[in-house]
Amino acid sequence: MESKPFFSNLKCRECGRLYPKQAIHVCEFDFGPLEAAYDYEEIAKSISRKAIESRPHTMWRYRELLPIDNEPTVGAQVGFTPLVKADRLAKVLGIRELWIKNDTVNYPTLSFKDRVVSVALSRAKELGFQIVACASTGNLANSVAANAAAAGLKSYVLIPSDLEQGKVLGSLIYGTQVIGINGAYDQVNRLCSEIAGKYGWGFVNVNLRPYYAEGSKTMGFEICEQLGWRIPQHTVVPMASGSLLTKIHKAYKEFSQLGIVSDTKFKIHGTQATGCAPISHALKKGTDIVKPVPKPDTIVKSLAIGTPADGYYAIHSMRQTGGSAEDVTDDEVVEGIRMLAEYAGIFAETAGGVTVAGAKKLIQSGHIGADDSAVLCITGHGLKTQEAIVGKCGEARIIAPNIREFEEKVYAADMAASKA
Ligand SMILES: *Cc1c(COP(=O)(O)O)cnc(C)c1O
Ligand SMILES: [Zn+2]
Repeated sequence: MESKPFFSNLKCRECGRLYPKQAIHVCEFDFGPLEAAYDYEEIAKSISRKAIESRPHTMWRYRELLPIDNEPTVGAQVGFTPLVKADRLAKVLGIRELWIKNDTVNYPTLSFKDRVVSVALSRAKELGFQIVACASTGNLANSVAANAAAAGLKSYVLIPSDLEQGKVLGSLIYGTQVIGINGAYDQVNRLCSEIAGKYGWGFVNVNLRPYYAEGSKTMGFEICEQLGWRIPQHTVVPMASGSLLTKIHKAYKEFSQLGIVSDTKFKIHGTQATGCAPISHALKKGTDIVKPVPKPDTIVKSLAIGTPADGYYAIHSMRQTGGSAEDVTDDEVVEGIRMLAEYAGIFAETAGGVTVAGAKKLIQSGHIGADDSAVLCITGHGLKTQEAIVGKCGEARIIAPNIREFEEKVYAADMAASKA
């Protein structure tokens, strides 16, 4: 595909003013966030189910709806992760039909962040950045580090200093500069805004945020395509800044506007950890004023953003679609991780536990109907957050290397247990 002007401008979400496609992210007049805007008439001439189906199985099969000018140069293999029908999990959660969108196996760093980073870094290269960076709760750092290494870009990743070892090592290994900040994510983010302003580096989720954020739409596009070109009745999404949830909503709206899926009713629900649930608490209270959480306190570090940048818009997406929000305790998170593993064979990180446990509550409370069909967005791999489950899923039984020990300590014991 040669370069066509599908992606036209940046546009303020508040006042609609148009801006050039540069590394800027807030409106000068009202500080509203800037978002990518497209020429949908031009896109309609190029995109169709058939055209998409003829393309490689990556997130770039929806190229017209992503904000870069030329072909992607970073993360060309990312996306098109499995959508798995989870009948056994559906049964224990008490719902007729359940699907898992499994981004634990996203390429290359096992979380949905590879989607946003491939767009942000492809755009960073188009804009001529040599140094790229991010403020991260872990997964974004991993993905910036890996994709920047592959692209030959120098990178800095700034993280709260108390993240899980898997997340820290998962950045260090790529030779990125890892900077641990003694503070919460909000403080990391403020520092990054200052650095971006002062040195002009390409921060994927600060000055490149309008490009970054659009990458999340591909999760929504893939869900529709993999369901046989339809929007699911219910989508359950974990929330940190709230961006993924708003972009899945945008994806569904774009696909129905373009006639790629029919314009059916759907609900989008958001989940958080109780120890940092500013968006969920606001929605449940019936307000759209998101009260910051100064000191997040939860094992779900990937979602621990006390002042969520897109909280307000996430609330509106949930309300507009008739969706709801739920938050879950750390114990419920561990139970959610275990259920997803034991009933669907998928090992997710803490954010996955939030989504499964949150969905369970939403089904129990009737916000998701027992006769309905739902998709759970599972966004990151469990091997990165092992601390959360150590000692909480049993232990290996250690025996001597002979058949007698096996018969006595394993076989006989297990046969007796299964008879009991
Ligand atoms: C970043 C992240 C999310 C969601 O982030 P948003 O800021 O709400 O877009 C969800 N799950 C995991 C594992 C993440 O790393
Ligand atoms: Zn504005």
